[in-house]
Amino acid sequence: LTREGFSTIPNVKWEDVGGLQLLRDVFEQEIICRIKHAEDCEEYGLDLEPGILLYGPPGCGKTLIAKAVASEAGANFIYIKGPELLSKYVGESELAVRTLFRRARTCAPCILFFDEVDTLTTRRGQEGGGVVEQLLGQLLIELDGADQRKGVYVIGATNRPEVMDNALLRPGRFGIPLYVPLPSPYERGLILTALGRKKRIDANVDLVAIGSDSACKNFSGADLSALMNGAAMAALRDKWNSRNEISDAAPGTIKEIHFKQALEKIS
Ligand code: ATP
Repeated sequence: LTREGFSTIPNVKWEDVGGLQLLRDVFEQEIICRIKHAEDCEEYGLDLEPGILLYGPPGCGKTLIAKAVASEAGANFIYIKGPELLSKYVGESELAVRTLFRRARTCAPCILFFDEVDTLTTRRGQEGGGVVEQLLGQLLIELDGADQRKGVYVIGATNRPEVMDNALLRPGRFGIPLYVPLPSPYERGLILTALGRKKRIDANVDLVAIGSDSACKNFSGADLSALMNGAAMAALRDKWNSRNEISDAAPGTIKEIHFKQALEKIS
C-alpha cells in the first residue's frame, strides 16, 4: 500500500516486473548501486544524485519499476501526484514541495516519485500559470539543493514528455530520459509470467505463448494485468459452479480455457 506523500519500502521485486531489461540496467547503475555503495560514491566525489524521467504510454510499468528500484535498493519510496501539489492554495504549493523534500531527506536513502510530473510545468503563461511557476521555481531550488539532497533520488513519470519544461530536464534534475514502451510480443509473455508468480497457474499453461499471441496485440502491462485477473476470476467461477462435481485433475488452478474466456470478454 502506498499512501501519497508518505514513505514506505515497497513490496515490489524485480521478479514482479516483466521485460524492461534495459531500464533495469540503467536503474541498477544510476540508483541502486549508488545507494548500496554510498560510501564509495562519497570517496570518489560523486555528489550529484541523478534524476530520471520515465515517459511513454500509460500502464506500461513506470510506477511499478520505480517501486521495484526502491525495494531492491532498500530505500524508502514517496509517491506524489503532480496535480495534488498544484491543487493547494496560492503559496501552499511551495510549502508542500519544501515539506516533501524535507520528508525525503529525513528518510534517505529515498526515492521521490512524481507521477504526472508534466502537470507541474504545462501552464506557463496560462490561467493558473502563476501557481505553476512558483511551484516549479521551488521544485528547481530543491532539486539543485546539492548537499541538501543527499540520498534523495527523484524519478518523474509522464505520458506527455513534449510539454515538459526544459529547465526540469537538466542533469541532477530529471536529467536522464528513459522511454517505457508498450511491450513486444515476447515481453508480453514475460509480463504475464511476472503477474502469474503469485497465482495458481496450471502447469500446462504456456504464458509466453499466450502473451505473444496476436489476440494480445498492443496490450499494455495494465491490460495484461486485467487479462490475468479475468482468467483468475473465470477459474474461480468454475470452482464455484462445480463445487459438488468430480472435477479435473488439478482443480482450482487457472487454465488455458480461462485465459481464452478472459480474452473474449476483453475484446
Ligand atoms: P500510468 O502512466 O497510467 O501512471 P504506469 O506506466 O505508471 O501507468 P503502472 O502503474 O506501473 O503503469 O502499471 C499498472 C499495472 O500494470 C501494474 O500495477 C502492473 O500490475 C501492470 N504492469 C504494467 N507494466 C508491467 C510490467 N512491465 N510488468 C509487470 N506488470 C506490469
